[in-house]
Parts: sequence; C-alpha cells; structure tokens
Amino acid sequence: MTDSSEIKAEAAETMAKKDDEVAAGSEARIGRLRFRKKEMPGGLWLKCENCGATIYRKEVEEKAHTCPSCGFHFTMPGRNRVQHTLDSGTWEELFSELSAMDRLEFVDSGPYGEKLDRTVARTGQNEALIAGRGEILGRKVVLAVMDFKFLGGSMGEVVGEKIALACDVARKENRPLVMFTASGGARMHEGMLSLMQMAKTCSALSRLQEDGGFSICVLTHPTTGGVTASFAMVCDLTVAEPGALIGFAGPRVIASTIKQELPAGFQRAEFLLEKGQLDLLADRHEMRDRLANLIDFGTHAWQEPLGHTRVALPGAEAEADAEAEAEDVPDAETAD
Ligand SMILES: [Zn+2]
Repeated sequence: MTDSSEIKAEAAETMAKKDDEVAAGSEARIGRLRFRKKEMPGGLWLKCENCGATIYRKEVEEKAHTCPSCGFHFTMPGRNRVQHTLDSGTWEELFSELSAMDRLEFVDSGPYGEKLDRTVARTGQNEALIAGRGEILGRKVVLAVMDFKFLGGSMGEVVGEKIALACDVARKENRPLVMFTASGGARMHEGMLSLMQMAKTCSALSRLQEDGGFSICVLTHPTTGGVTASFAMVCDLTVAEPGALIGFAGPRVIASTIKQELPAGFQRAEFLLEKGQLDLLADRHEMRDRLANLIDFGTHAWQEPLGHTRVALPGAEAEADAEAEAEDVPDAETAD
C-alpha cells in the first residue's frame, strides 16, 4: 500500500512539475517540441493511419512501406522509391548540385534559410525532388521523384526547375518521363516564386508532349495543393497508388467552406478513378511491371503484357477477345 501510494505521489509530483514546465515554458519551446515530434517520427512501432493497427516499423519497410495488416501505402522516402522503381545499378542522378534558395529571406516561425539548413542536414538532400536517368525493366527513362520528408515535398523554385530540366532531358534523349509525386503543394516560404513553378512545369511538359515525348505521373499519398494543380495532372497518363489522398484543398477546408458533408472516400485515389480523374490504380508491389507496360504502350513498343506477371492494361483483354470474335464471324454477318 505504502509503495503504491508513494509511486502515485511521485507520479503526481512529476505531472505537476511537467505542468509547471509547460506553463513556464515559452511558446517557442512548445513549437520546437511539436516540430521535432512531427519531423522525426522514431521508434520501433508505428500506428497505421488507415486501419489503426500497431505495426512493426521494420516489417513496414520490408514490405516497401505498406501496412502488413491492411496493405495501406505509406509515403515512401524518395531514395527508397528510386531504388524500388529502377533496375539496380542503372540510376544516374542529375542536377543534384541545385539546392533550395531563400531569395526572399523569408521568416515565419523562424528564418526559412535556417530551416533549409536543418532540413538538408537531417535528410542528406538539398531539395524535395530527386531526378535522374535509369531503367525500368530495361526501358530507359528519366525519373523524377518527390520526397515528402523534405519540407512536406513542397514545390519551391528549385523543385520546379528540376522538373523542367528533367522534361528537357526526356525530350532531347527521347526517353519517357516517369514522375512520382508526394507533396503538400507549393512552398509558401518562396511566395510567388513557388507559384510560378506551376506554369513553368506545365510548359515544360507541354513542350515534351509537342515533340512526341511520353510522360507518366504516379500520384502517391499525399499529393495536394499546387502540385495536383499543375504538372501532376497534365502528363499523358495519370496513375495513383491505392488509398492515396489526392486533392487541391484539404477535405476539412472544403467541408467547412461548402457546409456539406463530403461523400465517403472523398479525395482518395479510388474515388478519383471512379470520377474519371485517374487512368489507373497500381499497387506498389506491381508498380514496376505496370510502368514497363505503360511505357511500351506509350512509346509504341507495345506488343503484349509482360508474361511473368500477367499484367494487362484495362480493356486490353476485352479488345483482344472482341477482335478474335470478329475474326471468327463470316464477313457477310459482320457487315450487318
Ligand atoms: Zn493498416
């Protein structure tokens, strides 16, 4: 009894101490704690945001950052994505010398320049986009991957520039362009310079298309704001991973603006596919095969779906059946 009441008293004391600390602590300190908590998720276990299961982090990583319980596709770090997408040993990074800039000397909770330095040190990257050449099952591509862990994958001046440059490489070298997005949208710290990237990336893609190039964008969880409103949605094919949140404004903002309850599954990839905003949903585990098929299709190298995975384009099977049937029917009858 004594032991337990002593422990209780001690716990109460600690709690009171903590309350005092919080009360006495400045807002900056609380802000810093929040920042650290948000920016550096650690630990062995994590909670699935889709099914709520407590899952072992290592198992999630082994399963290409998907939930072992419900299959939810978590945001995948950029470098892992490159590794997961390309044939090993084919990656050749481009424009890695371009680093984010603080031209406006912007200050919000702290100077943007300092925030950039911290992010670069933490992530080992100098921007939220990685671009380069590589091969997907032997098909030469230009790959551009957004990394959500770099300031929420936001699109600043350099992200936009790297996308435009990647489009130019794809155009000049006649390679398909494959992009993966994961972004909170435009980077507010760069003001108008970041918004200008929306037009710039779209023009670069448009030049690629005019010259007969081929582009695929894979929208991953989450893709929102100015990225959805620009280059992510104007490629030749728009693919998404299952369950990905894709939208411009967030669902809460929309619900409070239109004062209506949003339909179930609103802004999720499945919902958008049904509404005709996406061409295809592709599971991460079969993404490479899907992309290879789509590249063959888009570059007129299409012959038949890859045999070892039996992946077919939607409708391809039905078309083949219809053709076979048409061949069987005598000419006179088909004319009717
Ligand atoms: Zn889950």
